[in-house]
Amino acid sequence: MNNTEYGEQEMPDKPHQNLAIIGHVDHGKSTLVGRLLFETGSVPEHVIEQHKKEAEEKGKGGFEFAYVMDNLAEERERGVTIDIAHQEFNTDEYYFTIVDTPGHRDFVKNMITGASQADNAVLVVGADDGVQPQTQEHVFLARTLGIGELIVAVNKMDAVDYDEDRYREVVAEVKDLLNQVRFNTDDAEFIPISALEGDNVVEESDNTPWYDGRVILEALNNLPEPEPPTDAPLRLPIQDVYTISGIGTVPVGRVETGILNIGESVSFQPSDVSGEVKTIEMHHEEVPEAKPGDNVGFNVRGVGKNDIRRGDVAGPADDPPKVAETFKAQIVVMQHPSVITSGYTPVFHAHTAQVACTIEAIDQKINPASGEVEEEHPDFIQSGDAAVVTVRPQKPLSIEPSSEIPELGSFAVRDMGQTIAAGRVLEVNEK
Ligand code: GDP
Repeated sequence: MNNTEYGEQEMPDKPHQNLAIIGHVDHGKSTLVGRLLFETGSVPEHVIEQHKKEAEEKGKGGFEFAYVMDNLAEERERGVTIDIAHQEFNTDEYYFTIVDTPGHRDFVKNMITGASQADNAVLVVGADDGVQPQTQEHVFLARTLGIGELIVAVNKMDAVDYDEDRYREVVAEVKDLLNQVRFNTDDAEFIPISALEGDNVVEESDNTPWYDGRVILEALNNLPEPEPPTDAPLRLPIQDVYTISGIGTVPVGRVETGILNIGESVSFQPSDVSGEVKTIEMHHEEVPEAKPGDNVGFNVRGVGKNDIRRGDVAGPADDPPKVAETFKAQIVVMQHPSVITSGYTPVFHAHTAQVACTIEAIDQKINPASGEVEEEHPDFIQSGDAAVVTVRPQKPLSIEPSSEIPELGSFAVRDMGQTIAAGRVLEVNEK
């Protein structure tokens, strides 16, 4: 369900936020999203009407929200696209897109390659179950992948009789977890909710008289506005290269950092060619410049279609994208059927590049939570472990230290059709 299907909803002129909804399976992520869509009027009237009618025919008249959730669940069972990923809704301040949710097949890869980089996140924790393994994993990923602020929704308060003591226990568990991964708890806001009953999601609930903080919608409105990384040097990973008659070679991609200007000299790495930007096109219109988040096609004088390719990164000729001979990275192994030893050569996905890389050395095994070194030069690492590794790309790869350009400094490691590890670059040894 995308914006065009809403009909009555115009493309809003508000700052945009990519929001991730994270948390353990069955803790209520879909229900919360359904509730937000429903209460913010993002579910088309005709869909509600249709479900209302169906339910009345079946003699199950009542609360419309249930129909929305049934709809989401039913569509999900049929494998249709109505799923919480890529749903959109508006609040007073922002226009939100829900990005892929962890648990979705390619979440980590999408997060890293920027297809669904989240600005901020809502962590859903069931008040009955408290912190669970996926709660930990998602918080760790959120931290590694640089999510800004966290709204912690302690959900299913109805299932624990809106008990304040139980809420405090769960808040303490989550705070422990955030402290372990060194996530500043000042940047987290805790809210007791029931997504199912609608408590403290959009309206203050009478069931939690002991809580006087914000409801979810207010917390969303109060998130800081994402600041585009315009001050960093230009980095524009190339998705495709076209030849357009009358124009010439047109690389296409999204500006990750910096500004692309007409007239500037850009360098493509690792292909190592450069040329002057003649025209920039966005949404079929010529524009004088492109900024972070803009998807553009641009024409470069003196660069042929076969000179550059997907996986190249464009940057200023006087501050070109780095090309790694080797790099050091911190990785976390998410799921690997056996063990990872030095010499292992899976495919690394970074921005638009996919390059086989050899893990040449496992330098240190580190505690994923505290970051302390647990072992120097371990023989192997396995699922759940974090490590500092030295990596040698088997073909030229442009990548940046995440401390300098975080947008170009993280990667997913894939093998056997799944994401087995995620990481960020600590240091690049250039060719
Ligand atoms: P997800 O896997 O995190 O997306 O979880 P779902 O949204 O699919 O919810 C899992 C189950 O928990 C469903 O049966 C929901 O009806 C139920 N659930 C979700 N939110 C609440 C809540 O606030 N209270 C109660 N009692 N149940 C809830």
